[in-house]
Amino acid sequence: MLNIVIFGAPGAGKGTQSDNLISTYHLLHISTGDVLRDNIRRGTELGKTADAFISKGQLIPDDLMVSILASVLDEKAEEAKEGVIFDGFPRTIPQAKALKKMLAERGTGVTVVVGLEVPEDELVKRLLKRGQESGRSDDNLETIKSRLQVYHNQTAPLKDFYVAEGIYAAINGLGTIEGIFADIKKAVDAKK
Ligand code: AMP
Repeated sequence: MLNIVIFGAPGAGKGTQSDNLISTYHLLHISTGDVLRDNIRRGTELGKTADAFISKGQLIPDDLMVSILASVLDEKAEEAKEGVIFDGFPRTIPQAKALKKMLAERGTGVTVVVGLEVPEDELVKRLLKRGQESGRSDDNLETIKSRLQVYHNQTAPLKDFYVAEGIYAAINGLGTIEGIFADIKKAVDAKK
């Protein structure tokens, strides 16, 4: 199995590069942000809970997030046979540990963590642009600032966690989409 975690700050290009990974490796793509936004659209109980956190730029609590991910993995076990692209998960050390356990129970593990590294001023620029184009409610300056703060406090420490596991691939996230993907592909193929 080829299990890829696409990792980086909000606006680093995780969604865009996930599309490239899907068309190259034909793996199941799980974006926890998409799962949550879909629940918000459908007005489910989970969506109502999630909306309160997302609109403030905060993370959904780990226990809830881990159980959501476990049910998606179970529901889509057939599609996940060749592997999974995890987009937006894990975002905390407890989530990373839970993912390791979940995958071990399924006889597998994370193959490579693609870390998209982009300077902060560029992230803000991209997120504001996306807010104008897509109308995503959390892409406004106030929420962007708290999401970046949350990223630095809770998510950035995952880099050291995965460096210690020997599976972190640092990718310069500045440049053309194609050029960045060429670097990603090299990193993934080296770990396959
Ligand atoms: P994203 O689309 O990945 O940028 O996620 C949008 C929002 O969904 C985040 O700002 C969080 O509020 C929430 N979210 C997505 N994934 C997670 C996660 N793994 N843990 C906690 N909250 C998450």
